[in-house]
Amino acid sequence: MTDDRHFLRLEVVSPDGPVFAGDVAMVVVPALRGELGILPRHAPLVAQLAIGELRVKTLDDTWIRLAVAEGFVKVQFDKVIVLADAAELAGEIDVARAESALQRAKERLALIRDGKVPAGEEIDPYRETMALRRAKNRLAVVKKG
Ligand code: ATP
Repeated sequence: MTDDRHFLRLEVVSPDGPVFAGDVAMVVVPALRGELGILPRHAPLVAQLAIGELRVKTLDDTWIRLAVAEGFVKVQFDKVIVLADAAELAGEIDVARAESALQRAKERLALIRDGKVPAGEEIDPYRETMALRRAKNRLAVVKKG
């Protein structure tokens, strides 16, 4: 029996709403265990997303890049749903904002490292490390795009 499904339906959703939706040729997602390439007829799957770059090959063979934060990807019946804490198309990333988020996280982590967190203030090292990673990822995606 022939199978003529040559595309995937991709939906990328963040808490703010849809970020991308369309029929595409291939999706490469940053999963916790490494990059995951998804083509039509992929087996059903649920995986956890890492902070990283999501690449989309369009039906006219160009690539679209997005920066994504943590979340999940689900694949079933040629439909790929990406639910991410944050997702931005490369062209929509605000570089100055990412640079200042990076700087802020670095400064806060330095305060912890040097034992100089002001009295009465709390800085969560995990939170700052994740903020640093998100900012670095955004800057890396912009650079490549
Ligand atoms: P910031 O401290 O600048 O808010 P953050 O990493 O804490 O950075 P997130 O919590 O990941 O921000 O995202 C909050 C919202 O802001 C999301 O909708 C995300 O897509 C958007 N966002 C965050 N940083 C940028 C950026 N540099 N450019 C465009 N959108 C961004």
